Amino acid sequence: MPKKVIVIGAGVAGLSSAIYANKAGHDVTVFEQGTCPGGVSTSWVRRGYTFDGGIHWLVGSSSRFQPFHKRWIETGALQENNHVIYADPVFIFKTGDVVLHLWRDIDRLIKELVDFAPEDRKALQALKRHVQIIGTYMPAPQRFWDWVMIILRLPVFIPLMVYLLCTSTRKYTERFSNPAIREMFSSILNLDQNALSIIGTLTGYTLGDNGYPIGGSRRLADNMEKTALTAGCQINYRSKVEKICIEDGRVTGVIVNGMLQKADHVIVAMDTCTALQTLFDEPLDERWARKLQKRTDSEHCALLSLGIKKDLSYLPSAMRIHINEPVKMAGLEYSTLWVYHYSSQEGYAPEGCSSLTVLFQGDTYDYWKNAKDKNTYMTLKEEFTQRAIQLLEEYLPEIKGNIAVTDLATPITYERYCSCYRGGYMSIWHAKTMPPRVPAKSSTIRGLHFAGMRTFMSGGLPIAVQSGYKAAKTI
Ligand SMILES: Cc1cc2nc3c(=O)[nH]c(=O)nc-3n(C[C@H](O)[C@H](O)[C@H](O)COP(=O)(O)OP(=O)(O)OC[C@H]3O[C@@H](n4cnc5c(N)ncnc54)[C@H](O)[C@@H]3O)c2cc1C
Repeated sequence: MPKKVIVIGAGVAGLSSAIYANKAGHDVTVFEQGTCPGGVSTSWVRRGYTFDGGIHWLVGSSSRFQPFHKRWIETGALQENNHVIYADPVFIFKTGDVVLHLWRDIDRLIKELVDFAPEDRKALQALKRHVQIIGTYMPAPQRFWDWVMIILRLPVFIPLMVYLLCTSTRKYTERFSNPAIREMFSSILNLDQNALSIIGTLTGYTLGDNGYPIGGSRRLADNMEKTALTAGCQINYRSKVEKICIEDGRVTGVIVNGMLQKADHVIVAMDTCTALQTLFDEPLDERWARKLQKRTDSEHCALLSLGIKKDLSYLPSAMRIHINEPVKMAGLEYSTLWVYHYSSQEGYAPEGCSSLTVLFQGDTYDYWKNAKDKNTYMTLKEEFTQRAIQLLEEYLPEIKGNIAVTDLATPITYERYCSCYRGGYMSIWHAKTMPPRVPAKSSTIRGLHFAGMRTFMSGGLPIAVQSGYKAAKTI
């Protein structure tokens, strides 16, 4: 029987929940506090420059990576208007006069790195082996031979998995004695994630996944929104859910703008930590909820966006630039600049210009929150921006005198616009820990469901879309 379903949040998880609940024949309404779809995976425009603050690589962009690819297709996220590109090299790593390439082809990658640092031959060959072993299990098996390999490699796969899950990415990179090689691998993703994250990511690249859909985060979200609306879902923007109403152990609806919106089922597709702390009169008495409240750490960043009055298309679209002396900014030390530019993408900047972003990874929430409380937020934002530009100009002198637009998003921005807990945008799966697994359906409150980036660690877009599917299936 069709049920009245309310989804909280029109991020990727919320849109996915809405689309799948609608496919199952339910009457779906989405409430989103912001003004557009996508949540933290979004782009914004400043004076003609478009800045992508979300997707850098999309797991499941290739059909070999199931079930994620299926979800992207079924939700209409990937269509003809946003075909996926696979940059190769994925990025260049620059330190002093040295330039190294993160090639997708593992043989080419290892050969270049061994030629550069023969002392790391053993560690690099081991990395290749790790990628190949994990690569047996990541894509969906298609042929008889794939199944044979899966069985044959089990005796090496199991101990490797144990090792990767018990080792942090930081520790894994210490296998390399050459500082440039170590820094290069350290700049792939957050060092606090377990080492399965870095090997999994490299495996995705080598197997032809982890692409970038043209049009980026916003087009992907717009596509999902269109799928939902065309199917008959209702999406209300500027509609913040204030409370989830529960009577006699069953969900009855939500409060939006002081008004009760009745529902048989509510899917919480906003940050689960924020939801647990703000939307319930009584704390949710479930083990995972108590565990999650103690494990709230997540990935954070300050994202500096620059509009450059120059065509930078001759530069690689992704660069990791190692700086000579680590610099302290917003209370953290940075040694590498993560630079992306979108010059080869049509419509991201006025003719002959480029939009460029620099990602400063790390949890600076307390620094910015303190500044906000003391009314120094805007001043410190400006200080951070100028320091970052100064640094960048040392390594990319061509941008000097050509900066037309600056824009800095901090964890406070993600907290303000998306209610992300402490401004985080993706959960972290630490080494040696079993992550709390958020169930798709509450075991104590009937009609209550969960989706989103925290439901399985480490989160991100694939978890968002898959968790939406799972939550809808439990109605
Ligand atoms: C700079 C950056 C780079 C990233 N790069 C990648 C990448 O390359 N690959 C990858 O896989 N992931 C990446 N991520 C992470 C990924 O974008 C997120 O993990 C994912 O989009 C989270 O989706 P979500 O739907 O779970 O949550 P959200 O996007 O946070 O969506 C939740 C929605 O709920 C709304 N909401 C919150 N509270 C309420 C309320 N009370 N009432 C109504 N609405 C509410 C919010 O406004 C928001 O729209 C990146 C994120 C950032 C910020």
